[in-house]
Amino acid sequence: EVSTGTLPGWERVDEIVREAHARYAGERGGRVADYIPVLAEVDPELFGLAVIEVGGGVHDAGDALHPFSIQSISKMFVYALAIQEHGHERVRDIVGVNNTGLAFNSVVALELNEGHPRNPMVNAGAIATTALMPGATAVEQWERVREGLSAFAGRPLSLDGEVYASEAASNDRNRALGWLLKSYGRLAGDPDQIVDVYTRQCALSVTAHDLAVMGATLADGGVNPITGERVVTADVCRDTLAVVAASGLYENSGDWLFEIGLPAKSGVAGGIVAVSPGKGAAAGFSPRLDDAGNSVRSQMAIGHLSRSLGLNLFASA
Ligand code: GLU
Repeated sequence: EVSTGTLPGWERVDEIVREAHARYAGERGGRVADYIPVLAEVDPELFGLAVIEVGGGVHDAGDALHPFSIQSISKMFVYALAIQEHGHERVRDIVGVNNTGLAFNSVVALELNEGHPRNPMVNAGAIATTALMPGATAVEQWERVREGLSAFAGRPLSLDGEVYASEAASNDRNRALGWLLKSYGRLAGDPDQIVDVYTRQCALSVTAHDLAVMGATLADGGVNPITGERVVTADVCRDTLAVVAASGLYENSGDWLFEIGLPAKSGVAGGIVAVSPGKGAAAGFSPRLDDAGNSVRSQMAIGHLSRSLGLNLFASA
């Protein structure tokens, strides 16, 4: 059963969300990330799913309210804040919009492009994007990130101190990317401080429910459908979702777009949020990842939702 145009009524959507959760609850594929030491200790069985409709309808299933670190998913919302602040042209000059085809933390991708980050969804581009946050000090920039992402979520988000400490003690590679950007004259400010803000943004604690609200804000032209607050403009949503469609699922972004047909962003803690403009957003959380770093169960469950709710952007029927 496929609906086009709008979502089916609340009860039918709720039924489909529950069905998607139940269908993949037994899936055990993938492995928990361990390159940030503390992430390796998480319960791999956790599985939450949430859908938020632009009209404000809420659907939570399983561990939808279990907290985890946002990780790379922060990149799409910080990018939205950067465009909101500086505009499409300026941000586009600083960070490109094409997929690298390489790993999220690739140094080679940056070297091959003379230090010009290819897109804001990989670490080099994300660090350059974080550097665009307004503020006279790194503390102020971090406050701007935290406040901005909290506005997307519709509640105050806070740092997971343990994840932050664990990553701060093991993020030599991100610091290397920061210094490499600086060496090419593509980073204003102190690379260690900017990478510290980036590390904090990745350690913000969210739930699948929060991610669905954040995504639904982008689906709703920048207005949070739960709080009614305008967070960014509709143009910013359009720009952000285009970049997320091209690069949100790391080097598997093309496969995902081909199969599922929705802009989506993943993070190594196991979260994924997919956005259906004008309709809403679906978010999953489950810690076991595939080789590219994308949550296996979240991909499957969101794929099921995309098919059952008729969300594929490229499907005309
Ligand atoms: N904080 C992680 C890093 O920068 C994010 C990686 C991810 O979620 O892809 O390495």
